[in-house]
Amino acid sequence: MSELPDQANVVIIGGGVIGASVAWHLTQLGCEGVLILERGQLGCGTTWHSAGNILRMSSDPREVELYTYGVELLSSLQERRDIGWKKCGRVMIARTEKRVAEFDAIARTLQACGVPVDRIQADAVHDKVPVLRTDDIVGALWSPDDGRVNPTDLVDALVREAKNRGARVCEGVAVDQVLTSNGQVTGISTDRGDIRCEAVVNCAGLWARDLGLRNDIDIPVYPVEHFYVLTDVVEGVAPDMPTFRDPDGLIYGREETGGLLFGCFDRNAIPVRPSDLPEPFVFSLLNENWDQFMPYMEEGLHRIPALKHTGIRTLLNGPEAFTPDTEPVFGEAPGLKNYFVLAGMSSAGISRSAGMGRALANLIVEGDAGCDTSNFDISRFGQESNDEAYLRKCVRDAPSRHFNLEH
Ligand SMILES: Cc1cc2nc3c(=O)[nH]c(=O)nc-3n(C[C@H](O)[C@H](O)[C@H](O)COP(=O)(O)OP(=O)(O)OC[C@H]3O[C@@H](n4cnc5c(N)ncnc54)[C@H](O)[C@@H]3O)c2cc1C
Repeated sequence: MSELPDQANVVIIGGGVIGASVAWHLTQLGCEGVLILERGQLGCGTTWHSAGNILRMSSDPREVELYTYGVELLSSLQERRDIGWKKCGRVMIARTEKRVAEFDAIARTLQACGVPVDRIQADAVHDKVPVLRTDDIVGALWSPDDGRVNPTDLVDALVREAKNRGARVCEGVAVDQVLTSNGQVTGISTDRGDIRCEAVVNCAGLWARDLGLRNDIDIPVYPVEHFYVLTDVVEGVAPDMPTFRDPDGLIYGREETGGLLFGCFDRNAIPVRPSDLPEPFVFSLLNENWDQFMPYMEEGLHRIPALKHTGIRTLLNGPEAFTPDTEPVFGEAPGLKNYFVLAGMSSAGISRSAGMGRALANLIVEGDAGCDTSNFDISRFGQESNDEAYLRKCVRDAPSRHFNLEH
């Protein structure tokens, strides 16, 4: 167990992909005295079991800018260390003309942002992802710059480089409380003692809300059960096969060790109270829930006929934190100077980590995020948005809303 310092400049609470990215970008800006505190081990929360699909597509130019930077950072990290980054592209398929019109809008945004994208037809979908049924497809979108990454290796690479530039990491340290005086952060108290510091960043993932409440800060993020299955080997699935999404069926997938990883974005997701999770929730999962996944399994059987004769190795059920509007919570907490928040990644934390980490580091060091963060800003939420009953209600369809709007 590493020795706990009694002083730091910026303490990052949580060593998932978001904390790692904030640390990387802070040290990149020359910030000294950066300390990551992780109560388990790096990546042990939600990050380790993420599907690791990387988005480049959005109908919102602000998101496209963040994703574009993300792809650049992943490409440059991959040159220095294997993080499993593959720019394999993504196919999005439409079952309806309405969906095609939505794809057209996305394509226009991407083209305006200089991001490569193509409208393609069913035969081209078949060429790219031969396992997909295509006879009911009325159109598709091809994004060559989307890809996939290994989230654990990404965290490792970001943290190693941050440490090379002076950051410190202490695992096995749980933050109990952020200490304040006169409306300003002065330190933190942990289960291994207190640390004085200038600023804190709450990157505690699905636990960010509970931690915030200890300082009367509203961080309306709430987890739901989130699923994918891993299959046995499927003939015709190549390692460089593009990822795919079928928004009308609320399913997505990609290659994984010769088989498929295929998952869903639930329209009636099950909220998970963080305090009900078993302790310690370190590299842990929720129980399989076939009743909940079955409608999406049926969508999968429709879209991928080979699944009818392919074994399922695992149904993975992990908690993922959503916000009411499925946008992250970003910025300095209103009324508490130097208490920063970056949480509520709403199922896109790996894709969002680079751009949002850079924006938060800019805000801390330069006082300006360097990009338009109005759709993420913590101050868009009032206290009523953090009411638990309200949150439990509105996160139920958050995954499907997020998936449909194509953030
Ligand atoms: C099934 C599934 C599939 C997914 N697929 C994708 C995908 O394909 N692409 C994509 O972009 N995203 C995906 N996601 C979402 C993505 O994995 C998450 O958004 C992201 O990992 C969240 O990262 P985080 O750093 O905010 O949280 P976490 O990884 O949970 O990190 C938070 C850390 O804070 C620590 N912590 C909490 N409280 C304290 C405390 N008091 N003191 C010290 N440490 C503390 C925790 O131990 C934890 O390690 C998926 C999620 C799931 C569940």
